[in-house]
Amino acid sequence: MNPSSKVVVIGAGLAGLVAAFTAAQEGADVVLVARGPIGTGTNSALANGYFSGPSESYPRETYIRDTLKTGRFINNAFRVDLTAREAGRAFEFIHFLGLRTRSVTAGRFVESPVSGVIPGVTLMKRLAELISRHDRIHVTRGFYVTDVMVENDRVLGIRGISKTGGETFISAPSAVLAPGGAGAIYLRNDNQKKTLGQGYYLAAKAGLPLRDMEFVQFFPLVLAEPHLPQFILFPPYPREAKLINASGEDVMSKLDLGDINNAIMTRRDAFSAGLHAEIKSSRVYMDFRDLPGHLWDVHPFSVLKKMKFDFRSRPVAVAPAAHFFMGGIEADEQGRTGIDGLLACGEILWGLHGANRMGGNALTECIVTGALAGRQAARNERIAPAVPLPREASTGRPASAHSPAKEVLKGVLRRIKEISFSHAGVVRSEEMIREGLSLVEAMKLQLKNLVLVDSGDRILHEDVASALFVLHAVLAASQGRQESRGSFIRADFPEEDPARWRKNSCLHYDLKEERFSIEYAAPREDSFFIH
Ligand SMILES: Cc1cc2nc3c(=O)[nH]c(=O)nc-3n(C[C@H](O)[C@H](O)[C@H](O)COP(=O)(O)OP(=O)(O)OC[C@H]3O[C@@H](n4cnc5c(N)ncnc54)[C@H](O)[C@@H]3O)c2cc1C
Repeated sequence: MNPSSKVVVIGAGLAGLVAAFTAAQEGADVVLVARGPIGTGTNSALANGYFSGPSESYPRETYIRDTLKTGRFINNAFRVDLTAREAGRAFEFIHFLGLRTRSVTAGRFVESPVSGVIPGVTLMKRLAELISRHDRIHVTRGFYVTDVMVENDRVLGIRGISKTGGETFISAPSAVLAPGGAGAIYLRNDNQKKTLGQGYYLAAKAGLPLRDMEFVQFFPLVLAEPHLPQFILFPPYPREAKLINASGEDVMSKLDLGDINNAIMTRRDAFSAGLHAEIKSSRVYMDFRDLPGHLWDVHPFSVLKKMKFDFRSRPVAVAPAAHFFMGGIEADEQGRTGIDGLLACGEILWGLHGANRMGGNALTECIVTGALAGRQAARNERIAPAVPLPREASTGRPASAHSPAKEVLKGVLRRIKEISFSHAGVVRSEEMIREGLSLVEAMKLQLKNLVLVDSGDRILHEDVASALFVLHAVLAASQGRQESRGSFIRADFPEEDPARWRKNSCLHYDLKEERFSIEYAAPREDSFFIH
């Protein structure tokens, strides 16, 4: 590894790969680091491949209005405008990758040439191929980033645990954060299992505030059969698909949610809240029994067909599951955060989605922000020389399968997932939040005096600390929001309160005290803000 690499990109999902590729195309030497495989094994690889954005059939004003309306008008208008302007370039990039797409009114789907392959896998494999052939990109797999190193508000590089277990520094004047979200801190989620909010923790440790962390999107229709994975039912749903309860009632009509495909794209909040309430009295099932036979050979049914469940003869139980984090860190048009040389892209960013994300906006955001951050990172390199840091600070003991600390950490992680789901889920209240916060404090103590013997322990400890940090952030931000808007309901403040609460929350983390302080700011008014 080059100890004075110019641009280091953290994360090998869609945002990170686009950032790495763009920076390299701009002439920078890039080190791409990720804990797992490049492209695959990320949330991006699980995606349905749906990109939203303005087009000839979907005017810019309509796209902006839909994004704001879905986000309950607390989106950051600047980011909405930016995505509207740049989405065309994202579509061009997909075209450049040579992928097959299918246009629909509000965007386009990437299609897999092979039946039964998730579109995200097709997309990410293609990008990973491009990255692996690029002579300016050095790929470092199995590198777990523990810190972004900052001095005088300026990035020096990153620190992490390498594949061999040693603590390693990589110096760079530019670091691009693309570590994704935190959906897997919830017991029910459709994310990759290590999506535990490491990026939010890295950012907060480096001194960045976190915005709107209370807003976690739940996807309404995720498999809820005990022997099946918590797998998302990819939209669109054909008209023969029916959502029913145990008495056979049509759930969409009962909950007054209108058309199922419209609800899944723009009303995931109301849809999940409705199902959450319905499931208390009856299980809810997706009934695919009337589907024409040929549909089982095309996406998305060809993916389901591979599972050990006879969807053609039995309705399948479904329930909401954590899917996406709307909150995160703030960046400007070029992806610059409040720390000089630190850029960010992808799901970790705050602003575009407001209180609830419109379907297709996450992937578009990954390409738009990945390209902008990559370009800016390459420019930084030209003006700021790399500051060399030591390469390997210590050699570590490689991970072993078992240790006393691992057992404790796995238990705490399990508890975090349960508490996230029960206390920071679709419905919250002051009482639930307070109880959740006191459970967080108890778990912090459990993490304190553990003896970590190998790199596996250290990585798991960092994962659990990240998940606990994010749960703490979600609860703290939810406590301040005394109304019901977007992705969750405050049972004790059931109404939306536009007069007092059209605001964004901002959490500042005190690393020493392990405490958050919270402040609010009204969203910026812009001429295109439509109510
Ligand atoms: C099932 C599913 C379907 C979806 N479908 C769609 C869709 O069709 N359209 C849409 O717009 N959105 C969709 N989304 C949302 C979208 O896929 C994600 O928001 C997006 O892919 C996130 O991309 P990312 O690059 O920011 O992060 P990710 O793809 O999650 O990648 C994060 C990367 O960071 C690495 N990483 C994290 N922490 C560390 C660390 N400490 N050290 C080293 N590496 C680290 C990970 O290993 C990984 O490589 C879907 C999400 C899910 C879960």
